Amino acid sequence: MIEPVYNVTRFAPSPTGRLHIGHAYSALFAARAAEGGRFLLRIEDIDAGRGRLEFEEGIYEDLTWLGLEWETPVRRQSDHFGDYRAAMRKLDEDGLIYPCFCTRKDIQREVGYADQAPHGPDGVLYPGTCRALSPDEREALVAAEEPHALRLDMEKAMERTGPLTFIDRAHGYTEVLGLGCGDVVLARKDTPTSYHLAVTVDDAIQGVTLVTRGEDLLHATHIHRILQALLGLPEPEYWHHGLLTGEDGKRYAKRDKSLTIQALREDGRSAAEVREMAEIPD
Ligand code: GLU
Repeated sequence: MIEPVYNVTRFAPSPTGRLHIGHAYSALFAARAAEGGRFLLRIEDIDAGRGRLEFEEGIYEDLTWLGLEWETPVRRQSDHFGDYRAAMRKLDEDGLIYPCFCTRKDIQREVGYADQAPHGPDGVLYPGTCRALSPDEREALVAAEEPHALRLDMEKAMERTGPLTFIDRAHGYTEVLGLGCGDVVLARKDTPTSYHLAVTVDDAIQGVTLVTRGEDLLHATHIHRILQALLGLPEPEYWHHGLLTGEDGKRYAKRDKSLTIQALREDGRSAAEVREMAEIPD
């Protein structure tokens, strides 16, 4: 008899506002994809300036009200900065990281008209200014405590990994386009990790086998595959789902206050009704 294969999935919201109907859809999607397996919840609170404890509590409240159950303990990213620092150390030891002292303005000046400049998943592609600094110049600037970010040298990274692919249940077999992502920022002075590094490390540590999330993050998966290969982490399968849109065809966002789960609940909607609003079109 063939044993069924169960998935480990996760829902990974950032506590920067109340969850809205689009989040309900995404959470229910992840829970359904885990049926028979394990469904995890992760709080993505690396951005101390924007995350709030009351929103984290709101996440638990809203998901419980929707009838979801997840494994505990919940992984809160802000409790795990040491894991991200360890990953950065490895990339640094492998010579794949460099400090970047450019401000947003410097980058803008360098690329000229931003709307004509090539774009990657994180916006305008970094033109590589600080990649060209000599080791002495870098050392002097770091010693002078010049604020800087740490960037991945994508060309070196791709040389090391060779061609990569990932498998997505909705979008198929996809070739990783690393150079199209540019030298992405992996850490900053005030935050020892970026979204990209933290999710990659967390999905591996939590044993996630199927990453489900909105297709607005599909481009980020190219970066995550590269980081997995560089860090020797397992490759999960992906399932980037479509985004729920309102009647105007626009996707829901945190600014749509009337469509937060809390507002719908206070408006007298039942959990069953809200689940139905967040129904997944098959
Ligand atoms: N924290 C991200 C968000 O709220 C989701 C990250 C992910 O699922 O990989 O958009």
